[in-house]
Amino acid sequence: MMIDLHTHTVFSDGELIPFELIRRAEAIGYSALAITDHMDASNIDLIIPRVVKAVQKMRSYVSIDVLPGAEITHAPPELIPELIKEARHLGAKIVVVHGETIVEPVLKGTNRAAIEAGADILSHPGLISIEDLLLAKEKNVLLEITARKGHSLANGYVAKEAIRFGAPLCINTDSHSPSDLITKETARKILLAAGIEENRIDSIFENAKFLIDKVLRRN
Ligand SMILES: [Zn+2]
Ligand SMILES: [Zn+2]
Repeated sequence: MMIDLHTHTVFSDGELIPFELIRRAEAIGYSALAITDHMDASNIDLIIPRVVKAVQKMRSYVSIDVLPGAEITHAPPELIPELIKEARHLGAKIVVVHGETIVEPVLKGTNRAAIEAGADILSHPGLISIEDLLLAKEKNVLLEITARKGHSLANGYVAKEAIRFGAPLCINTDSHSPSDLITKETARKILLAAGIEENRIDSIFENAKFLIDKVLRRN
């Protein structure tokens, strides 16, 4: 079943409120979902408690694991460590940092700061450097293959280099709309299309599963 650890709601620039996103994810066959809205210093303490509340209320009524999270977005690299810390303190279980995608002017140094500060996932890391790949391997930060238009332009590079240097991968949708949610079969195709060999696909899903198990144990 599909595990998706990067999605957005109306609390940032997504279209759905948390309950509807959760229900739609359940209906399409997810086993786990993280809600990771865009955050900076202005809204981190507004959003995380709202999402935590929605997840707690909904938890008993759905068959999937739902984790409140955050996507620290366009923060200067110097501020990333404190924002990750604040997100966790506020109840985010999955902390994503919006990486150096080639389609936005994300500050250089963002990938490094996210990995050093121990984000759970570095989303759409673009043309990530060898040094950063090795550091992600050492710190076990998952590098994202994405289903999202635009960001996905670098999927082939991320897949090739992560596999070459042994850095762990995951796949997420970065959903903003209901139609962005995908089945596990589609996720498999996106991984194959990124040039990943069939025999490595299961281990990529297992990385996400392992992260969830770790996070749920942390509770
Ligand atoms: Zn992002
Ligand atoms: Zn995102």
